[in-house]
Amino acid sequence: MSSWEQAVSGLLRALRLDSIRSKMLVFALFATLIPSFTTAWISYLQNKRSITEKITGELQSVSVQTARELDLWVKERLYELRVFASSYEVSENLDRIPRAGGARAHERLTGYLRSVRERFADYQELLVVNPEGAEVASTAPEPTAVVLPQGWTKTIRTENAVVGDARWDEALKKGFVVFAVPIYQTGGQFLGALTAKLDFSALHRLLRRFAGSGEQAGQVYLITAGGRPIVGSRSDPTELMRRSLPAAVVRRLLEHEGTTREYRGLEGQEVVGTMKGVPRLDWAVLAEVPATEAFRQVTRLRNVTVLIVAALLVAVGLFAYFLGLLITRPLDRLTRAAANVAGGDLDVHLPVVGGGELKYVTEVFNDMVARLHESRRELERLSITDDLTGLYNRRYLMETLANEVRRSRRLDHPCALLMADVDHFKEYNDAYGHLAGDAALTRIAGVLRETTRDVDCAVRYGGEEFVVLMPETKAPGAIETAQRIRTRLATDELVGGKLSVSIGVAQFPDDGDTPEALLARADAALYRAKREGRDRVLRAPPPPPPATPRIP
Ligand code: GH3
Ligand code: MG
Ligand code: MG
Repeated sequence: MSSWEQAVSGLLRALRLDSIRSKMLVFALFATLIPSFTTAWISYLQNKRSITEKITGELQSVSVQTARELDLWVKERLYELRVFASSYEVSENLDRIPRAGGARAHERLTGYLRSVRERFADYQELLVVNPEGAEVASTAPEPTAVVLPQGWTKTIRTENAVVGDARWDEALKKGFVVFAVPIYQTGGQFLGALTAKLDFSALHRLLRRFAGSGEQAGQVYLITAGGRPIVGSRSDPTELMRRSLPAAVVRRLLEHEGTTREYRGLEGQEVVGTMKGVPRLDWAVLAEVPATEAFRQVTRLRNVTVLIVAALLVAVGLFAYFLGLLITRPLDRLTRAAANVAGGDLDVHLPVVGGGELKYVTEVFNDMVARLHESRRELERLSITDDLTGLYNRRYLMETLANEVRRSRRLDHPCALLMADVDHFKEYNDAYGHLAGDAALTRIAGVLRETTRDVDCAVRYGGEEFVVLMPETKAPGAIETAQRIRTRLATDELVGGKLSVSIGVAQFPDDGDTPEALLARADAALYRAKREGRDRVLRAPPPPPPATPRIP
């Protein structure tokens, strides 16, 4: 195995990915995951970009329109105030108040202010202040203090208007903003300022017009450059006044007017927002929409993608699993069959299914097992066969005789045993040579085969000794066969006249009822045949009577 193969196999083993099935599963999952996630990620990014562009467009349009409307609103209010301030009633009475009969002038001025306030609901309070900023006349029965920005007297003369900070009136539970315009006498002398406290509700209405309504819509706020909200399209003003945006967020939004940013909004949730400054005021319009709302479509797409990828993974996983089964089942069968063969069972034949390498391997395996089977049969045959004569050998006789004796005893049938020994074979060897002796033995084996039945078992018992086991045969039948063997040998072309055999016969169970006893009895008969002159057949002599104990 090459080094890279070893390294990879080691890694896979460490990851418990040894089996083909798990490797296929992992491969299939990766092959699904990588393209799916890449595609999904690209589409997610594109989707998010296009949604962001759309939201930017919408928020931008809302913020720009609102800022424009607000600017217009401010201009209109200031214009109105200037018109009121330029009224003769205002300048004349204001001029007279510090002088004699000032009380009457004060009354007239207050009356005028009240009449204006009644016509314009947006004015929470109208008051006139002197150049020092002190209240001179007011529409309120108990006038509240007016706080104008530092250096207002200068600003009001150069810019013809002052816009104060947004404030919260705790007593009235209302937010307001102060606008002031200058009051000049006919001669051009600066007398003071006409100041209006404008209710936030007017701004609130204006913002609502652009923010849209409904639960899902975003919010539009008017906020100061410091990040303090003045009014929101849907927020509770009391709550709103307590909140503020971090200065860094406001700065970033203002620096990139017209682009959207994601940040933690005034309501505490993640939002997407854009800002647009209001030209005349130090304020800005902030249009924002909750990020979850904005990217709902993206989130839905992401969830759908995750679901699809999960379903794909399951489908591909199942497919890979079954494909793995198709590969591993034949391999498992091969492994089991190989284990059986290793255990000695050669009666194995695997079904050849499918095609490709597995079919080839299965065929080779079957072929190999068939050859092994063949070889084993040959080995078995050789182990029970005599090399020279091709007859069964002594080992086979002992097994077969034991079986036959058992069978005959069980069925109560007879069987017979012939034991033959070639007469004076040593001399034959001496006369014709050992090879000729071998040829003679082979020929004698041939005669035995030809003169016995298929059911008989002819065996080369020793050097030039042969045994024939004859099932279902009694002694007379066996003797007849033995005589036939003798006769055939006498007339045989090769050995006729030169060789003869002596044969001893024993019958089961009369002459012996065990393999050993039968062999011993046949041997005894053979011995007797030799002694009586050879070339003859003799049945075993009756067994010697058991020794009777002598009675003293
Ligand atoms: P008898 O049996 O008649 O008493 O005389 P014998 O000469 O046959 O005596 P014995 O049975 O004792 O001798 C067996 C001889 O058979 C001895 C050996 O030379 C010969 N022999 C044994 N096996 C083989 C063999 O495989 N080939 C050959 N050529 N001769 C063998
Ligand atoms: Mg012998
Ligand atoms: Mg002999």
